[in-house]
Amino acid sequence: MSLMIYLLIATAFLGATYLILRLVRGLRTYLTFRGQRLVSCPENHCAASVRVAAGKAALEAMVGKQHRMLSACSRWPERKACGQECLAQIEEAPKACLVWTIMNRWYQGDQCVYCRKPFGEIHWHDHPPALLDRENKTIEWNQIPPEKLQEALGTHRPVCWSCHIAETFRREHPEKVVDRPSTPLRMSLYH
Ligand SMILES: [Zn+2]
Repeated sequence: MSLMIYLLIATAFLGATYLILRLVRGLRTYLTFRGQRLVSCPENHCAASVRVAAGKAALEAMVGKQHRMLSACSRWPERKACGQECLAQIEEAPKACLVWTIMNRWYQGDQCVYCRKPFGEIHWHDHPPALLDRENKTIEWNQIPPEKLQEALGTHRPVCWSCHIAETFRREHPEKVVDRPSTPLRMSLYH
């Protein structure tokens, strides 16, 4: 084989490696910056819910740029023209301000206010836990506006998925629910 072919193979190999590294960098950026986040808005120092344009950031990362911007904010459209200074908070701790992280941390180590079962690994997609608000009504976490979430975590209490379903049924169909008081006989049957 001539030297020319060796050079061509070597160039193609280097090119492919470079391309893969760029793709990995883009994918890593996407995975880091996707998702809903809570930040403290530098303008009014209140909680705001934002999303980073993760797809765009990934493409920029692939061409070697470090440019991030928001794709959504709970203070838009009023504050659409702001300087997006909150991005500094996201850059500093991208994982900590993710709504998933905040919610997971809130449930972990705690127990359901009804059945007292401790929260283990949370199955967000099929059995998401809920919260008990100040009016003693159970609600799903995504019913709370994200920018109010931080505040709600200070006043609401955690409820497991099963108890939330049972309590919702009890609230919506009180005529179908018979609450029998527990008697020593009934309790002894269960224990
Ligand atoms: Zn429960």
